[in-house]
Amino acid sequence: MSTMTTGADIGRIDGLTYPTGVAYMAGQFMPMSEARISVLDWGLLHSDVTYDTVHVWNGRFFRLDLHLARFRRSLAKLRLTVSLTDDEIRDVLVECVKRSGLRNAYVEMLCTRGISPTFSRDPREAINQFVAFAVPYGSVANARQLKEGLHLHVIDTVRRIPPESVDPQIKNYHWLDLVTALFEGYDAGAETVVIKDTAGDIAEGPGFNIFIVNEGELYTPERGVLHGITRRTVFDLAEAMNLPAHACNMSETALRGADEIFITSTAGGIMPVTKLNGALVGDGKPGPLTRALFDAYWAKHEDPAWAVTVEYDSAL
Ligand code: PLP
Repeated sequence: MSTMTTGADIGRIDGLTYPTGVAYMAGQFMPMSEARISVLDWGLLHSDVTYDTVHVWNGRFFRLDLHLARFRRSLAKLRLTVSLTDDEIRDVLVECVKRSGLRNAYVEMLCTRGISPTFSRDPREAINQFVAFAVPYGSVANARQLKEGLHLHVIDTVRRIPPESVDPQIKNYHWLDLVTALFEGYDAGAETVVIKDTAGDIAEGPGFNIFIVNEGELYTPERGVLHGITRRTVFDLAEAMNLPAHACNMSETALRGADEIFITSTAGGIMPVTKLNGALVGDGKPGPLTRALFDAYWAKHEDPAWAVTVEYDSAL
């Protein structure tokens, strides 16, 4: 790792404003606004890229090892090469956060197929590119939605890309289904959406997994969805709390009849849903198990078993 620019910035380039933050690419750290890839990169032209996102809360990474392991699995499945070891990637991520000074951060590591020097159509000739960055923490749900719950719509007109086409365990930017659905959800007055798989069962939403609570037990879709780290964390917390939790098919009928609904993501944690397609979920308030899991989730951010503390420079 070489040393370069330090500190967060609000960059302005070509009339565009960039978030504060620090990035790492081509062996150098730089302000977020300076981290740019070529338009010829296969990551852009073919969505030939994988990524992972971890968050830092109160100066601590949460479950970083699980995110690094998933990133490594995604890279292997796509035959992408990052020359850094896991420890070196961890050091880069920590350094991005330290240099940014951010106590609450959204931290991403990604690898694109890159560019072939001859613009060859053979992906083996492209030079893979690793990029990492830390920007201010962002959440699927805003503060009001975290307190009162989100209004979610089930969208029927667009289906999640099937796992036979794109393996959802490779964390990916194939989001056209999710973004198309999101616009439909906004048109219908909702705040976010969940879409179905090609068999008509509930799948996932833009950047999150979904859970329902029924008679004290938890259910979440298993097939055709990313197995999120927050989803996994819910299973871990449920076990510790003696709550039965099941990964299985979820019908729209089951979703509509749920006692409680919540969604899970690194970007927001455990987030209550209190309205579904215009109808109240339960009494329209975040349910008791959702709240208990929410509290346990954030308490675990203090537990050294799951959290890595960032040693910030005192000047920042
Ligand atoms: N599903 C999709 C499609 C996602 O993109 C994400 C996160 O970005 C998730 C689920 C939630 O995964 P995690 O809990 O690891 O953030």
